[in-house]
Amino acid sequence: MRRIFGAYAYGPGPAALCGWAADVPDSALLTPALSSDMTTDIAIIGAGYTGLTAALHLAKAGLGVVVLDEHFPGHGASGRNGGFCCLGGARLSSQAIRTRHGAEGLAEWRHAERTAIDHVADFLADHDIDAQTHSNGETILAHSPRAFRDLVEHSSEVEAEYGLRPTLHTSEDLDGLGMAGPWHGGLTIPLGFGLHPRRYIQGLSDAAQAAGVRIFSATPVTKLAPGTPHRLHTPQGTVTAKRLIVATNGYSSENLPNWLGARFMPAQSNVLLTRPLSKAEQAEAGWTSAQMAYDSRGLLHYFRLLPDGRFLFGMRGGILSSRRADEGMAKATRQHFDRLFPAWSHVESPWNWSGMVSLAAHGAPFAGPVLELPNTWAALSYHGNGVAMGSFAGKLLADLVSGQKPALYPRLMQAQPPRIPLGRFRRIAMPFAYASRALADLR
Ligand SMILES: Cc1cc2nc3c(=O)[nH]c(=O)nc-3n(C[C@H](O)[C@H](O)[C@H](O)COP(=O)(O)OP(=O)(O)OC[C@H]3O[C@@H](n4cnc5c(N)ncnc54)[C@H](O)[C@@H]3O)c2cc1C
Repeated sequence: MRRIFGAYAYGPGPAALCGWAADVPDSALLTPALSSDMTTDIAIIGAGYTGLTAALHLAKAGLGVVVLDEHFPGHGASGRNGGFCCLGGARLSSQAIRTRHGAEGLAEWRHAERTAIDHVADFLADHDIDAQTHSNGETILAHSPRAFRDLVEHSSEVEAEYGLRPTLHTSEDLDGLGMAGPWHGGLTIPLGFGLHPRRYIQGLSDAAQAAGVRIFSATPVTKLAPGTPHRLHTPQGTVTAKRLIVATNGYSSENLPNWLGARFMPAQSNVLLTRPLSKAEQAEAGWTSAQMAYDSRGLLHYFRLLPDGRFLFGMRGGILSSRRADEGMAKATRQHFDRLFPAWSHVESPWNWSGMVSLAAHGAPFAGPVLELPNTWAALSYHGNGVAMGSFAGKLLADLVSGQKPALYPRLMQAQPPRIPLGRFRRIAMPFAYASRALADLR
């Protein structure tokens, strides 16, 4: 397996202090490893939201499904994200989408973003999963006066494109709403909610297994033999399958399959979690709201007060990956947190971790057939917004693979992701990309 970060990034190290594991430990998600050869209708590589949602719907359609994960369900981003189930998935302005795909293309993409959130909410309700949900949509906080002016414009866009009624807030309003801080105003979009990512993945894994899906942990796919049917090699057995789904997102390799090579850019994201804050501590900082929020920077900070009183704070991760680099990023994350929430600078943050998201050169997520390989489908690159969109893409893949016409298949998601210049050396470009975003944030 050829990957562009070192082995550390893909192993247990970056998630060793993952706060969600205090409640749902790795062992609760672990399934047996594959230890023999088997044959199935559909093999899926990757047991995150994408792979497991696809698996669940395919099994419900009566197909035989085997899911293989190098570690365990939720080992990747799905078991360690910020839990914002929200709009998003692309990194493109409305204008850019309209230019590429027309007004209709934009409308269907906005519809898909909304549907993706409903899809997760319906799954949790139908399976009676307590994912500790909270928040009435999300609030964007302006980091500068100019950013607030942009939010005013964005508010009209949200209303026109999503058919929602967003609310603009002055900084005084935010104080009154329990979202005090160095903000120049904000915008609440009344759609989306926060959830416990591991409770969601555990629910998906249980539901998929109950529907007949066989999930194998500690089973890395190390080689894909060309030809039909697919033959997947793992350390202790092979899987022969008529159809294949690749659902490895930020944990993808360059060569499983070769089509993936340079079509995605893995990028790290960092999170810290405080100990539970007392009501008095929350009041002291002026942050008492259950609302999930992020600021308007290009290199954004995202944060929310969890129902148990712990405070989650996330931001972009580093360029390097090693235990030492993680320690450095944990310190940097803490500095950003202290700067935005100085009243909590004495509060311990015993959990901090990082994980990988996937970006695409054309700024859009992909879900569809892999053109170079017969009977192969993939979905990836939700640009750090895959809780809802990864789940939506998984359902979309299930429809495509089982030969059903999807109810909604945005053309934005249909274009094959282009290869990124510099190939396997493309990480070299990341510091420049981050620096230019940091400069833009000074506006
Ligand atoms: C720190 C962090 C915070 C985030 N916060 C948010 C948020 O608040 N809201 C939001 O919407 N999104 C967020 N995201 C992004 C979101 O979590 C992801 O987009 C989403 O989970 C992707 O799901 P997935 O199933 O496609 O991939 P993943 O969950 O990453 O799963 C991929 C799986 O593939 C497996 N795999 C890879 N290669 C192989 C192989 N060769 N053989 C077998 N298995 C293999 C890996 O072990 C992994 O389990 C965040 C991500 C991170 C890292």
